Amino acid sequence: MTPLITLGILVALLVGLAAGKAWERYKLRDGRWIDRRRARESPHYMLGLNFLVANQIDPAIEELGRAAEAAGDPLEIRLILGNLYREKGQVGRAIQEHQALLQRPNLRKLEHANVLLCLGLDYRRGGFVDRAMEAFSEVLRLDPGNQYALANLEKLHEEQHQWAEAYAARQQLAAGEPAVNQARHNEILAFLENEIGLEALKAGDIASSAERFQSAIDLDERNAPAHLNLGDVRLRQGDPAEARAAWEQLVAHSPDRAYLTFSRLEASYDSGKFPSLCRQLIASQPQDWRARLALARHLRDQGDAGQALELLFDALAINPHGLALHQAIWQTLSALSLPPDLVTRYMELTRNAVFYVDPHICVRCRYRSTELLWQCPHCHEWNTFVEDRVSTEGDVLKAEG
Ligand SMILES: [Zn+2]
Repeated sequence: MTPLITLGILVALLVGLAAGKAWERYKLRDGRWIDRRRARESPHYMLGLNFLVANQIDPAIEELGRAAEAAGDPLEIRLILGNLYREKGQVGRAIQEHQALLQRPNLRKLEHANVLLCLGLDYRRGGFVDRAMEAFSEVLRLDPGNQYALANLEKLHEEQHQWAEAYAARQQLAAGEPAVNQARHNEILAFLENEIGLEALKAGDIASSAERFQSAIDLDERNAPAHLNLGDVRLRQGDPAEARAAWEQLVAHSPDRAYLTFSRLEASYDSGKFPSLCRQLIASQPQDWRARLALARHLRDQGDAGQALELLFDALAINPHGLALHQAIWQTLSALSLPPDLVTRYMELTRNAVFYVDPHICVRCRYRSTELLWQCPHCHEWNTFVEDRVSTEGDVLKAEG
């Protein structure tokens, strides 16, 4: 049972409960009184919920089906049953269940919205993107600010690379939330704004792409790709000083991502400035192996292979699985004509190293990737990748996160 399915069941329950709350205890339907409390007091209902908690979907469906039957098919239980079919992968059956509920006479506005929300989730699971979008939009018409509908719409738009629409949905989501959550919303809005800027850039609209990157930074000054892209655009506009300033802002606000600017800043700086940037980073972040690697390459190119090798050995102790480090070490050892004592030190350092192919890991779903990604391709969350680090003893150590 994946966490996603458990989450889906919780959503199903919450939606069911919300629908229940919106109702009175008794309601006339098809000429007979339905006792909602009777459904909840049925042993089948409790059994069904217990099976749900134990992640046993089939017996849960059976018991909840009986509870529904005994109580005259209350909407909230049929809603949950439909959701359970969806979680089982029976999307067609789920759609049937939920569509049938839409046919019921005298649905209240909130009930109608809840049924449509579940139907939208069915469509989304089944890959019917347009119908899902339609359903969620209809939910919002009936129940403006519905958080589930907005969150689902945002993800659907992201999947379609409709960044402006995703941005609008996230903005509405943020509007309904307390101030303590705004930082996370702004973090995501900044990534979406950055994507809109990239689109403008692709379309050749350089000026408006720069505006987008700047407004991404205004939303979240830690957003690394926006700083990088803004600098690149400034360079294309023929303004290297502004480009440098943008990249330096990345270093200042996200020193853990500073390495993304290294090749750009090294090419842009006058001599002496780049090594001092690397030294500052090493001093402020003792685990920064990339600043050591960049400084070592720089020093080796300047003819100081001895000092370069010391830096590389330090970096290797921090990150023994960095292939770039091993390559740089061999290049530097070759430049020094392979002195046996230094080759021996290298062998000592690497003896117990464990090597990972995919050092980047999503802290939300544990997805692994060889490269740093801003959005996880598995759980679609923004900015969730950290580096998995390995000690020389082979113990897995987590990077900050
Ligand atoms: Zn993930």
